[in-house]
Formats: sequence, C-alpha cells, structure tokens
Amino acid sequence: MAGPADSARISARLNELYERHRLQDETRLASYYASGRGYYPPAEAGEESDRFAICLATVDGEIYTAGDHDVPFALQSISKVFAYALALADNRLEDVLSRVGVEPSGDAFNSIVFDERHHRPYNPMVNAGALVTTDLVRGPSPARKLERILGLMQVCAGDGPLEVDERTFSREMRSADRNRATAYLMRAERMLDGDVEDLLSLYLHQCSVHVSCAQLAVMAATFANGCVNPVTGERALPRPMARDVLSVMYTCGMYDAAGQWAYEVGVPAKSGVSGGILAVVPGKLGIGVWSPGLDVYGNSVRGVDVCYEIADRLGLHVFAGDDEDAMLGSGTPGKVRQAVTPRTPSAPLREHRQPPVARPEG
Ligand code: GLN
Repeated sequence: MAGPADSARISARLNELYERHRLQDETRLASYYASGRGYYPPAEAGEESDRFAICLATVDGEIYTAGDHDVPFALQSISKVFAYALALADNRLEDVLSRVGVEPSGDAFNSIVFDERHHRPYNPMVNAGALVTTDLVRGPSPARKLERILGLMQVCAGDGPLEVDERTFSREMRSADRNRATAYLMRAERMLDGDVEDLLSLYLHQCSVHVSCAQLAVMAATFANGCVNPVTGERALPRPMARDVLSVMYTCGMYDAAGQWAYEVGVPAKSGVSGGILAVVPGKLGIGVWSPGLDVYGNSVRGVDVCYEIADRLGLHVFAGDDEDAMLGSGTPGKVRQAVTPRTPSAPLREHRQPPVARPEG
C-alpha cells in the first residue's frame, strides 16, 4: 500500500503529466475517428480535441485520475486484448497458435495481409487476427459468446456494468466493408468457417463496449497484477494468460509502430481508434489514457506522448531498473529525451498511411 507521501507524489506526478500534455502536438495530428463517419480531418474536430484523461491503477488497488476520467468511450481495438485472452482460456495454446500467430505484421491494423507461410493472420492485435480469436471464443450462441466477452471485461474493470453502446455498434456495422471483406476472404482461404455475418457482428459488438478511462486503467492493472483485479481481488483469468497476452501486446499492440514502441516506451500496450490506450507495467501499474486525436498510425497523439514520458522520464520502461522508477519508487524524473526514431514518419509515408475518409453516414 502506498503511504500518504507516496500517494501525494503519485498524484503530483500525474497532474504534472496531464498539464504538460494538455497542449496537443498538432504537427502529428492526422485525424479523428467516429463510428459510421470514419476518419475525419482535425480541422473538423470540435470539443473532442480537448477531451483528455490519464488514469493510473496500482497493483495495490489504488486509483489516480486526471482530466475526463469518467467520460465513456468505445474500446474499439483495445477489445482485441480480451478476445485473445478468452480464446487462450477456451482452447489449447497450440490450437490458438495454429489459427493466429504472434508476429508483428509491420502493417496497418486493417491490412488484408496474412502470414502466407503459416496460413494464418500475423497476430491477434490486427483486425484479421482478432476476427479469428473472436471465432475461437466458445459459447452456444453469438449472444452467449458476447456475454462471456463482456463478463471478462467486467471482471477486469471491476466497476460496472459494462455495456455495448448500441449506437456505436450500428454505426460500426454500417461502415464495416473492410472487416467484412477480410472475414470473407479468410473464410474462402479456410482460415475461418461458420457464419461471417454473426462473427462480424460479435467482433463489432466487442469493439463498441463503452468504458471510462478509470475503468481502462483498472483493466490494465488486472494484467499488471497477474490477471487478478487489484481493486476487487477477483481473478479474471489463469495466471499464465497475463504472460501470453502481454507478450503479444508488447510486440504487436501499437500497430505498425509496434517495434518503435517496444524500443522507446517499453510497456505492453494496446490502442484503439477511439483514442484510448491501455498500457501495463507488469507487477506495478495499469495505465489508461484517452484522447481522441490520432496520429498516422491510428494511435492517440496525447496517449502516445504520455506513455513515452511515463516510460522514459519517469523510468517505467520494462527494462529500466527499479531505481529509475520515479512514479512508484525513489527514482528522480529524468529529462524528456528526444525520440530516437521520428514519431512522425516522412511525408510520403504519411500520405500513404493517411486513413481514408469514410463515406458520410447514410
Ligand atoms: N472497429 C474498428 C475496426 O474494426 C476498430 C479499429 C481500431 O480501433 N483500430 O476497424
């Protein structure tokens, strides 16, 4: 348990972090995303550009919040973590691995590319892989499978109930051409079988679950704490699942920027196009950040910056020593280092990666 002095230090560091990143790095802002509308340019953003929260949950069950900590947003791709965890819990490891790999794809999250050599999607953190892990979740009906996925999210978040935002879901469903195409192609290639429309609906339901940033931090802390929710004490999954899930988040969680992320930030993390990032410092802390402005990879600009600083300046990189930990331990905050590799890719890549602006909602 953190004593009063520790709690005061953690709160002070968190507030400092929040204030420092309120001003968004506009040069890296590529788009915003809204369900049904798709990506839209920053110039069209309204109050969403000010939305920002950072929350921390320690493995002792303490929660620290800054900013819009209780505003709900859709999990989107962060839900892939839970579908993968449940697929692992429901199946033998070799069966899961035969259907979906653990290799970073180096491509965008919605790329229609596969690991041809092994005839499977590259990993569970890209859309193709998540469609497969969703298919691996057991249950007698799609409704029961969704209940099980929601049940797991619920135990991890502790404070509920968590629900699917039906408006988000119906909008996602109306703009699902690419996911639908991916799923049908995989079925044609025998990477999937069964009803594609049911699977797509289940996948998009889980993407549309609403959480607050504080809940996101507790979900992260559950993985930091070996799959036991540190606030409620409830076990969400068997212990080995934390290792498997965190390894894949570490190497594949941040889309095509995942290698750079692992090198410089060094904490397993998963982002979603709603602007959320769930990050895990194993044995110590769960981090939730939410801010909807996205970079060219589809990661939250403020979210990425906060995680860089937590890892680097505050010494929480998984390969940093305990004496460097300036958040929970005795380390002294360092200077913010210049990013080793540019966080904003070169102009041609940027053009190439610019997410397409989806048709307006019809
Ligand atoms: N629902 C979105 C999709 O499946 C989620 C994408 C994301 O958050 N990266 O394309």
